Amino acid sequence: MSFYHVYQTIRDDDFYPMHDQTSEKDMMTILHKNILTEDDFLRLLSPMAEMYLEQAAQKAHALSLQYFGKTVLLYTPMYLANYCVNRCVYCSFNTQNVIERRQLTYNEIEEEAKAIASTGLKHILILTGECRKTTPVAYIVNAVKRLKKYFDSVGMEIYPLTEEEYKTVINAGVDSLTVYQEVYDETIYDNVHLSGPKKDYKYRLDAPERACRQKIRSVNIGPLLGLNDWRKEIFFTGMHAKYLQKKYPDVDISISLPRIKPHAGTYEARYDVNDQDLVQALMALKLFLPRVGITISTREAPDFRDNLIPLGVVKMSAGVSTEVGGHALEHGSDSQFEISDPRNVNMIKHAILKKGYQPVFKDWMPF
Ligand code: SF4
Repeated sequence: MSFYHVYQTIRDDDFYPMHDQTSEKDMMTILHKNILTEDDFLRLLSPMAEMYLEQAAQKAHALSLQYFGKTVLLYTPMYLANYCVNRCVYCSFNTQNVIERRQLTYNEIEEEAKAIASTGLKHILILTGECRKTTPVAYIVNAVKRLKKYFDSVGMEIYPLTEEEYKTVINAGVDSLTVYQEVYDETIYDNVHLSGPKKDYKYRLDAPERACRQKIRSVNIGPLLGLNDWRKEIFFTGMHAKYLQKKYPDVDISISLPRIKPHAGTYEARYDVNDQDLVQALMALKLFLPRVGITISTREAPDFRDNLIPLGVVKMSAGVSTEVGGHALEHGSDSQFEISDPRNVNMIKHAILKKGYQPVFKDWMPF
């Protein structure tokens, strides 16, 4: 049994009749409930729920205060390499794109680490493309060992690993995992991942669970918005998070909702997801799964990010570069995608304070 079996039972559901049948009375009932059903969650994603965004936002704010207080954890990504054997249509690192490829040496990793650590950040997220030849697990392990000298928390957003490999990287010091399914619809998934190991939908879908079984501290999942109808993708994401939360109650589960950004390829988002849609998606998730943390990346514009803080955002990236070596090295690489919030760590810290929240640089220490 894995989430794939749950997905198989819901993938052919027709969501739209439930949406069409949602009444004002249903909405008022849902907004006053403490524990929501899957049907309630679906109704919160309906067009009718757009009229109740303000009330949903008030409830999301209250739930967020109850579970997370007025704090926002800051972190930054560090790209170790951009070699990749996959052909994901939405990403600059797609093996067929002609971009400058680069991989950090261990000394360069330390240079980047020093530059990032000088901003005060204690949490870092390391990223690579999928290329086991240039960035094997042994390279990741050595990189993590170097980074542990500078950071308390090292998260990882790399290719999916076997359970045994997750055990190895966790033992080396990785405490959190980010793995986006990109798109839960299996047919669209097959269409946008043209070739490479990432074509294996189920292997990727089960990756968070393999890490949970090896007792990773936290897991971040999500869809890449723009590849499918956002309402369906959010429903699947919520169901995935609920499944993980129920089966692995000792693991912190969080969700990010990245939207497709300009990149080196020609693919453009097929499904529009505007700011209001994103807010509705976040509110529905927060009300359905109050203990799930929400992460908001620099794919979103500064004002929009700041305004989302009171609605349940518990983690924000800051001082971001999506280039390999983009923090310290004179000669970085091509970036993975365009960011929309170029503010440095200090500026984000002040933006969080201005909202009356506490910017947190460290909420965990290795033991
Ligand atoms: S999304 Fe990941 S796997 Fe796909 S091309 Fe980009 S780096 Fe490679």
